[in-house]
Amino acid sequence: MQTKKLAVFDFDGTLFLTDGALLKAALRVTGRPLTREEVWALPHPLSYAVRFATEQDTLTPEPNKNTIDRLNERAREGYKVVILTGRSQEAAEQTLEIARKNGLRYNEAYFHPGTLQPTFKEFKAQKLGELAEGYDLVEVYEDREHVINHYKAIFGPDKFIYFLVKDGKLLRV
Ligand SMILES: [Mg+2]
Repeated sequence: MQTKKLAVFDFDGTLFLTDGALLKAALRVTGRPLTREEVWALPHPLSYAVRFATEQDTLTPEPNKNTIDRLNERAREGYKVVILTGRSQEAAEQTLEIARKNGLRYNEAYFHPGTLQPTFKEFKAQKLGELAEGYDLVEVYEDREHVINHYKAIFGPDKFIYFLVKDGKLLRV
């Protein structure tokens, strides 16, 4: 029987290098300069305000060639390819247009409902669990270490392979 394989890609910071826009949006929303880590640690609903401000700032984000090449390679190899992002449903059209323009060969894309709950990482973990059902191998690409740690705590190493995207590079973790 053939192995069923799934590859799941985060969008911001993973497929596209949008940290600059994130920091700019955080400054606009909070009125003070923050580091990437400080932005990630922002409490609700501030984190949502920054996320949605970032979406407006990233109409032409810089592609991360390493991750995009991997995504298209996995598509050619017969993996099901999914984009799973904390971007809101409202930004879906704009985001998928960016994906199309950059030649991303994905099968499905999932967006955060844009509500206060669930949190980004809870939303992603829940969706990842649903997606992984029936697959023998699941690769996950994500730039936030705490999100990967959350996945690991729930799904373990069993059939999952985790890649952290750091400075544009893919690190198996
Ligand atoms: Mg990200």
